[in-house]
Amino acid sequence: MKKKLLILTTGGTIASVETPAGLIPALSSEQLLSYLPEIGEDFQLTTKALYSLDSTDVTPQHWITIAEEIRSSYDDFDGFVVCHGTDTMAYTAAALSYLIQNSPKPIVLTGAQKPIGFEITDAKGNLRDSILYAADSQSCGVQIVFDGEVILGTRAKKTKSLSYAAFSSINYPVLASIRDSRIIRYIRQEQEATEPTFYNKLNTRVFLLKLTPGELPTLLPEIFKVYDCIIIESFGVGGIPDSLESALFRELRKYRPEEKILAMTTQVTYEGSHIETYEVGRKLKDRFSILEAKDMTLEALLTKLMWILSAEGQSWDDIYRKFYTPVAADTLYSQPK
Ligand code: ASP
Repeated sequence: MKKKLLILTTGGTIASVETPAGLIPALSSEQLLSYLPEIGEDFQLTTKALYSLDSTDVTPQHWITIAEEIRSSYDDFDGFVVCHGTDTMAYTAAALSYLIQNSPKPIVLTGAQKPIGFEITDAKGNLRDSILYAADSQSCGVQIVFDGEVILGTRAKKTKSLSYAAFSSINYPVLASIRDSRIIRYIRQEQEATEPTFYNKLNTRVFLLKLTPGELPTLLPEIFKVYDCIIIESFGVGGIPDSLESALFRELRKYRPEEKILAMTTQVTYEGSHIETYEVGRKLKDRFSILEAKDMTLEALLTKLMWILSAEGQSWDDIYRKFYTPVAADTLYSQPK
């Protein structure tokens, strides 16, 4: 029996055409698939256009729409492929990893650096590989398939703006390679659940503050007033500079830890934060109840916090426990000090 797959399209370069104003996503989902005429012979494909956006315009509401679409058709298909712009694909992949947990059926995100209609393009290969991977009975969970690599949804990051190898797997091995339509698996994904757990709420009041040397603290009180959670993307293994310390500590003292969540992460792509290492980091960790990203990607950190903080009335312990409970292998640090 042919595997049944649902191909959802959302726009992005893969579905774009050239216009005088620049590339614009315009192809319908049927048009997109018409570039792979042979693939329909091996699989039973159903396409649906969810939206037609440059992924720059994708918001958390769109993540929820994709998850809801998969939930409502989950029983009818063996796997799902989401065609998406590459710019924010890693955020969508991370968000879907929290909105759809323990899925025994694969959910594959893909896209391209060049439109599918171009003579020279990575789009056809990426789409073909994604369909193959989504149809394979060993596949499960959320991942990105791109340039012959399969990257776990919670570990993906766009690290190249032009090259075909646009995505990297951060602090975690790639799950598999796909060469000449053959899947070579490196990691066996454990999938014990028979049913996925779906969520449909995210708290979008999560702010990212990127540190720069000598940054002024002027906006901190405003940020604390408006947002439920502040992620500080610090330097190296992590620390708070003198220029921000007193203003930040003043804000933190105004609120209970569960009222305003502070999460520390690093601007360094690989090897994670370790904020107890230096005095500039330890002074924060010793004095306040905070969370630390460790080896998580920023995309996973942000969307995990949006998912955790969507629940009402949680204590600091509830939040802490959920944060340090790995979801879809998003962290190897399940029991921090
Ligand atoms: N700007 C495009 C997008 O993210 C880039 C791409 O798809 O590669 O929609």
